Amino acid sequence: MSLITVERKILEKNDEIANINREKFRFNGMFTMNLVSSPGSGKTSLIEQTINVLKHKMKIAVIEGDVQTNLDAQRIDALGVPVVQIVTNGSCHLDAMLVRDAYQKLVNIDINLLFIENVGNLVCPAAYDLGEDMKVVIISTTEGDDKPLKYPAIFHNSRVLLINKIDLLPYLKCNIDTIINNAHSINPSLKIFEVSCSTREGIDEWCNYLLSRF
Ligand code: MG
Ligand code: ZN
Repeated sequence: MSLITVERKILEKNDEIANINREKFRFNGMFTMNLVSSPGSGKTSLIEQTINVLKHKMKIAVIEGDVQTNLDAQRIDALGVPVVQIVTNGSCHLDAMLVRDAYQKLVNIDINLLFIENVGNLVCPAAYDLGEDMKVVIISTTEGDDKPLKYPAIFHNSRVLLINKIDLLPYLKCNIDTIINNAHSINPSLKIFEVSCSTREGIDEWCNYLLSRF
């Protein structure tokens, strides 16, 4: 078997389980988001800020994916929200099997909104369906405005782009209009929010968008 054939078979098997996950998530009344970004762009911070705004309006749970440690799960746990940590032990993305197994620990909990925080990586998470309702990609202003052009697959496959750390714009060479134009050149229907998890700018707009989906 060629390498390409092996890779295709892995993805086919993944998609099969992802579809079963999606059916199960929907049957249990959950809306599920797969959060993708580079390391340090603010996935966990965004989840924390979203929980702070929405925890009295809906039942939220989180699946955390990391190569090592349960540090992110500890941050979510501190907010009193159900969380399961997946440690991938080196793998640079989550797959549908890992999410299926992690969800077993949440299956008896009433959940409306499930966040799946992927491993920090803009490349292979784009290819792996986990059974989510939508992918959300986050980039921070410190990463530069060329990222949508350099990693087009994840921008193509996501429904929402969050541009984080906009409070740092005065100190950076990053042009936010360039990020937006580059992102829309790859995915014209991408919904874009400009946020800062430090100053909370834009967080309410993002949360209102989430609420409008229920
Ligand atoms: Mg994180
Ligand atoms: Zn990977």
